[in-house]
Amino acid sequence: MGLPSSARYVIIGAGIHGLSTAWSLARDPRVSGDDVVVIDKTGVGAGASGIACGVVRNNYFQPAMRELMAHCVDVWESDPEAFSYHPVGYLQISHEAMRADVASIHEQQQAIGYSSTFVEGADESAAYMRGIFDDWQAQGVTSVLHEHRGGYANNMASLKGLLGKAEAQGVTVVGGVTVTGFDRDASGAVAAVLTDQGPVACEQAVVAVGPWVQQIWAMLDLPFETDVLGGDGCLHRRPTWTYMCLQEGTLEVDPGYLTANDGTMPPVVHIDTDAPLYDEAGLVTDAPWGVYYKPDFNFGGVQGGYMPYVVDKPADQVAVDPYGPDSPDFIVGEDFYRTWTAALAHCQKRFEGKSHLMSTEPSGGIGSFSPDNFPVFDTFCDNVYFIADSNHGYKMIGVGPLVAAELLGEPQGLLAPFRWSRYAEGKLHPVSNSPYPWS
Ligand SMILES: Cc1cc2nc3c(=O)[nH]c(=O)nc-3n(C[C@H](O)[C@H](O)[C@H](O)COP(=O)(O)OP(=O)(O)OC[C@H]3O[C@@H](n4cnc5c(N)ncnc54)[C@H](O)[C@@H]3O)c2cc1C
Repeated sequence: MGLPSSARYVIIGAGIHGLSTAWSLARDPRVSGDDVVVIDKTGVGAGASGIACGVVRNNYFQPAMRELMAHCVDVWESDPEAFSYHPVGYLQISHEAMRADVASIHEQQQAIGYSSTFVEGADESAAYMRGIFDDWQAQGVTSVLHEHRGGYANNMASLKGLLGKAEAQGVTVVGGVTVTGFDRDASGAVAAVLTDQGPVACEQAVVAVGPWVQQIWAMLDLPFETDVLGGDGCLHRRPTWTYMCLQEGTLEVDPGYLTANDGTMPPVVHIDTDAPLYDEAGLVTDAPWGVYYKPDFNFGGVQGGYMPYVVDKPADQVAVDPYGPDSPDFIVGEDFYRTWTAALAHCQKRFEGKSHLMSTEPSGGIGSFSPDNFPVFDTFCDNVYFIADSNHGYKMIGVGPLVAAELLGEPQGLLAPFRWSRYAEGKLHPVSNSPYPWS
């Protein structure tokens, strides 16, 4: 299908959010499939959704994130086959500094009916983990949160599932069309989305461009610095968007190499510990570290990642294409390979001496993070809805249906804590002791 000259809803980006919003809008009786067009400069899954490791979890210290994730897991569970979703569960294995935070996550999961088990104490945690993997040997662990729901999904397969559902409702998805600007009326609202193949007039634009959010932000003249009201009662000026590099990779073993004691596919493992990390060459790090991993046939091995790092960028360059030729070199380096394989061997004996099996295929990618590292779901310029998930988002397949409802005039309580106004009002999400910016 070619690019139409007008559509009621123009959605920019054919990743997890663009497609799930399109599907949700088009299946509402108040909307026809012809009303919805999705534009992507490349095609379905060309962005972060197509490379995401695909972990689906509830483990968040922030109550609003946890409630939203519980809703998203409901959507994953609604059609596991179409979404290529594997409900294997998720383990958050933590050191003492995180125990109280994770205990509160467990308590609140109980309160919202999200099934999980919490184990406390070093010996108890080790015994619980050995019940899953008999070669478990990680040090410095004093609690385990085992979420019985969640797991992971296969990135491109789930997008194809969503695409099929959207197209079955009559949605048009057009690849190879780049949004270059906006035609705005006197009030500042968008009258047409401008592309390299001509304008598309619209009533409503939806921006779901993942790491490219800064480029669209710049096209709408939105501010690149944001005042955030801190707990000290003062305003703190912060960059609106920052880039971080997500470091991921795959150990090339048969994914069946990481089955659980009972022969089944195990829960996704996420461990944060302060135990010094060594490999054959000596000390790797004595700072707290965290890794995640899972057996994954899609990636062809045991796949996972390590903590992200901030990509420094001068303020005048923040709107360049994060994946374009001018982008910084964010390829995962030797440090990652060494640390991640040492961490796997620290956790499980079966990974000792296996670092030479690490794939050196390019892996990982870049994410755009908001001033507080949590999503922004809000309307700007009267009729431009931004789904800017601050890199939390492949798991957030349920955001599209909520955004669709908001576009149809029904404000959603689950999205309310993610409005832009929270920065000026100081209504920030609580910060945990996790070394990750997204927990
Ligand atoms: C390496 C990595 C691993 C991750 N792992 C996980 C995980 O395990 N679990 C999890 O929940 N999240 C994970 N994430 C985060 C998650 O992938 C993203 O938050 C999410 O996929 C963003 O989805 P999106 O639909 O907003 O954007 P994307 O999937 O990035 O899609 C944006 C689309 O917009 C298009 N586009 C951009 N600019 C334009 C333009 N000007 N005109 C037209 N089209 C345009 C792009 O071509 C792209 O297809 C990971 C991210 C990375 C980088």
